[in-house]
Amino acid sequence: MGVALIAVPAWFFGGPVGALSVAALALFAHAVVLLWRIHRLNQWLSAPQLKLDPPWQGLWLEMASRIQRLLRLQEKQAAMHEQRLKDFLLAIQASPNGVVLLDEDSRIEWCNDTAASHLGLDVQKDHMQHIVHLVRDPVFARYFAQDDHSSEVIIDGRSISVVNARKLSAQLHAYGEGRLLLLTRDITALAQADAMRRDFVANVSHEIRTPLTVLSGFVETLQSIPLDISETQQYLQLMSVQSERMQSLVADLLTLSQLEGSHPPGLQEKVSLPPLMAHIHADALALTELLASKSEGPMHEICMDAVPEFALLGARSEMVSAVSNLVNNAIRYTPLGGKIHLQWSLTPDGAVFAVKDSGPGIAAEHLPRLSERFYRVDRSRSRETGGTGLGLAITKHVMQRHGGELRIESVLGQGSTFKLCFPLSRVSSTLD
Ligand code: ADP
Repeated sequence: MGVALIAVPAWFFGGPVGALSVAALALFAHAVVLLWRIHRLNQWLSAPQLKLDPPWQGLWLEMASRIQRLLRLQEKQAAMHEQRLKDFLLAIQASPNGVVLLDEDSRIEWCNDTAASHLGLDVQKDHMQHIVHLVRDPVFARYFAQDDHSSEVIIDGRSISVVNARKLSAQLHAYGEGRLLLLTRDITALAQADAMRRDFVANVSHEIRTPLTVLSGFVETLQSIPLDISETQQYLQLMSVQSERMQSLVADLLTLSQLEGSHPPGLQEKVSLPPLMAHIHADALALTELLASKSEGPMHEICMDAVPEFALLGARSEMVSAVSNLVNNAIRYTPLGGKIHLQWSLTPDGAVFAVKDSGPGIAAEHLPRLSERFYRVDRSRSRETGGTGLGLAITKHVMQRHGGELRIESVLGQGSTFKLCFPLSRVSSTLD
């Protein structure tokens, strides 16, 4: 329309040629203006921050505003997606399990810190490295090569320390287009618990099998060989020793399982120490008398310091068991005629019961393991004196349940001191 308005007067003054020239000139000028505006629009839109007021009027303003709205929406959506991705990665980062994202060529695209620690990966350096080149366990390489990944595989992880080998459960899951997700789970504790359970069952079976074999041997003898009364009595006596052994083993096993399966004792029960120790002292004298009469040797010299007038808060039966385990051990492992000293004392941290003996002492390498179930330094001495190998395990458990601890000090050839340390929270200065 604009071109026609200029072309008509030009026709009038310059004829058709003049009109065409003016029209062409006008079209050219219009195109230049158009290009300049598009260029400015492009510049305006490409600014790092969208400017609020487009510098145009009319149709251009409308167009610029629409594009601006669309761009704002897009920017908002992109920011939202980015935030979601960040949250998602943070959630995977917080997972207690290891997560590795692999691309179509099984190269590491991303992994969380847990996976890095499980597999010994370096998040930055190992980016886009092939997973099999980094996880060197041959079991994993075989698992990776097979087509079926429907079950997990147990592999060796990056060790936590020289002593503690780490066991991992790893499984690959396909996702997206040809991508793989590798999940890892630390099962070291589970594997250890499983090994402990197997050891425990094997130990218990072994402990029960020995007296059972002896018992069944005697039964067979009694059935097949005619014996006189005194021989029969002798056999029956030996059989009774074996069955007592099994009874104490079962009793100790039950005590352990009760300790493990119940809540720690509260502070309601008050156990007055003087009467408790009077009992323990009497039992100790009876035990040494029995051993002395059996071996026709001198009794132990058992000396007990005056018991301070105070009470402990906790389970009486458990305390009796912990204290008498230590006293009985001192008597059983100290040769007849040896000295045993029992002492209770109050300290700023709580109350301590100490049993000191003049027995054979224990070599340093055994000390940390003494409270493990069935751990014995002197197996035959333990058996001879009716030990189950569970006494110190029970004692340690009792002390843990009371917030205290069992301490052992010993030097080979110089006797031992076993201590029960109760915290201040378990000590009461009143007796009832
Ligand atoms: P056990 O029933 O064999 O005595 P415990 O758990 O009570 O089992 O003790 C574990 C081991 O600790 C014993 O087998 C023994 O070798 C050692 N032991 C415990 N007390 C003493 C002690 N007073 N002197 C020397 N060795 C001891």
